[in-house]
Amino acid sequence: MRYAETGYNLEIDLSRGNIERVETDPRLTELHLGGLGTNSKILWDRVPPDTEPFSPDNLLIFSTGLLCGTPAPGANRTIVTTYSPQTLLMGYSMMGGFWAPELKYAGYDKVIFRGKSPNLVYVWINNDKVEIRDASHLRGKGAVETAELIRQELKESKAQVAAIGLAGENRVYTASIEQGRSSASRLGLGAVMGDKGIKAIVVRGTKDINLARPAEYMELCNEVLKYIKVREEHPVPGVMTILQGLGSPQEMKHVDEEWHTQNFMWGNARTRKKDYWNKEVEQKWKETQEMVRTRLISCYNCPMKCGAIISVPGISTYMMKCFSKLTYTMAAYSDLDFGFRIAQRATEYGVDGFSTPQVMAFAFELKDAGILTDADFAGCPSDNEGKFYWLLDRIVRREGIGDVLANGTYWAAQQIGKGAEEYAHNNIKKHEQLPLKLGMLNPVYFLMYATGEKINITQIEGQFPQSPFPTMEEREAFIKDWIQVPDEKFKQYLLDWELRGERSNPYYPTVDMSVDIVDWQEMMHYIDDALGVCAGLSSFPLKPPYHIHNYPTFISSATGIDMDEAGLKQVYRRNRNLIRAINVRRGLRRVDEKPPEDHWKKRFPELEEKLLDAYYKFKGWNNQGIPTKETLQELELGYIAEDLEQRGIIKNEQG
Ligand code: SF4
Repeated sequence: MRYAETGYNLEIDLSRGNIERVETDPRLTELHLGGLGTNSKILWDRVPPDTEPFSPDNLLIFSTGLLCGTPAPGANRTIVTTYSPQTLLMGYSMMGGFWAPELKYAGYDKVIFRGKSPNLVYVWINNDKVEIRDASHLRGKGAVETAELIRQELKESKAQVAAIGLAGENRVYTASIEQGRSSASRLGLGAVMGDKGIKAIVVRGTKDINLARPAEYMELCNEVLKYIKVREEHPVPGVMTILQGLGSPQEMKHVDEEWHTQNFMWGNARTRKKDYWNKEVEQKWKETQEMVRTRLISCYNCPMKCGAIISVPGISTYMMKCFSKLTYTMAAYSDLDFGFRIAQRATEYGVDGFSTPQVMAFAFELKDAGILTDADFAGCPSDNEGKFYWLLDRIVRREGIGDVLANGTYWAAQQIGKGAEEYAHNNIKKHEQLPLKLGMLNPVYFLMYATGEKINITQIEGQFPQSPFPTMEEREAFIKDWIQVPDEKFKQYLLDWELRGERSNPYYPTVDMSVDIVDWQEMMHYIDDALGVCAGLSSFPLKPPYHIHNYPTFISSATGIDMDEAGLKQVYRRNRNLIRAINVRRGLRRVDEKPPEDHWKKRFPELEEKLLDAYYKFKGWNNQGIPTKETLQELELGYIAEDLEQRGIIKNEQG
């Protein structure tokens, strides 16, 4: 009997139209848990490193996490994995909502796609019955619209639908996969879905999931719910509003945007508007938000309500969460009303709400600089908002200049030339980041930005505060009930961290402390992404209900696997090294590990090199960021060491 997981994957060969239900190896669950961990193992084993993202040999994996569909609050993440057309490295992106639990209830842990369908199709998974169906009538339809049309067609109002819009169909590198109450947005995974000819994956499941020790497990889940309640009643003082509570930043609940609008950059991540926020703006934005926000909503089995149904008069309803509320507004130097309007169209097109506004602001900057010309923008309206709608339409259709911009700022700049590369200034590993620019280098964030395999600033950070508390009183109050720390030393790190002076950024936290802090934050993200638990209840907020001390019991109780803290840390290290090895085999090296060039005004090249050296050493990697043979062998990844050795990667570059 398999517990927590179903023990079966669906393997779908789109070129042949072949569908198989395949039993999985329980040993792999012990080694990697599920979700991201086993996705990576499959990618390593089955996709050769020289495979192009748009090759039929590339796999596109939709996975549930190990705890998805169990009563654990917030265990609802779908982990989508493939090779990214943007970065050319392994790309993975998570979506919340209801899709993953539904897949488990249908009897599968993962859906693995290979090949390409000659025609546009959708896949209908209805418990044991799985079909590939024609989707030619859905070509060009919006992602949200598609979901609704399919539900009507199948007469299945409870089916969960993950769909792409026009952007995915046209292989736009910022295409997302939309799923009603969430999306897998980053790294262009929607483009791979479109390339494979899949318009949507529709799931309905009504089976049960087995738990190894159900009574104990329910007790653990109840403790989490109780803790959430206590935390909600006691917001963390001294940090910005969206970080005080739990959940992913609850942008739809809060209207106080002073910090974002004054600290994040406007336009192509260039201009800071230090005096933007005032009482008048606050009142106007409050009215706008409250007028369009019909109700706050949650993902499957979660009380947090991080998202909202947005209903702007005259256009159809959609769901919005998190920072996309501001990305279009700030890229276009506009206001919140515009942000809510254009986000609806962007959601139907299925594009990443972080990258796409950056691409558009980049294009208009190139026009102002004379690098792109009036001819490139023939027919473009002159008003600021009209310009953005016009360009968004061209990008998702790959028309004219939109065809170049559809490849994201990095690749578009290469294609445009004439110095355009200078304007694609906010990327990490070819992927657009949030437009945050700061003054003084933060050593912890430097490491996370430079080395994170998620290649996505916002989904790496976590449980250690982003900046020091000004007074000792505040620090002491914070550490008092800080039960989540893996080691007591982190409390001292925080107590000693000052805003100014010797014990402040960039030299404090020290190099070794910074490495420790990053390792803790990474560990929690890797575990969440294998278990399918939302980062908003674990790795992202301060003092979350899930942490390294209670996760092992959750895993044991759900799966029957004998897990303790040391064992869980070992699984994390195994998965971390496996993903690193996949990217190393695709060519990732130290030279690629850097934050956006102008992310901080004050940089410290010598210190940054020391940070990278120490981080690599801590991880058991060589000075190029390549795992050593010994590290891999210790983690039962000897087969990877052999492969890297055969390719000359370890032998030639070690040391
Ligand atoms: S914390 Fe928010 S984003 Fe996470 S599962 Fe709950 S509602 Fe969804």
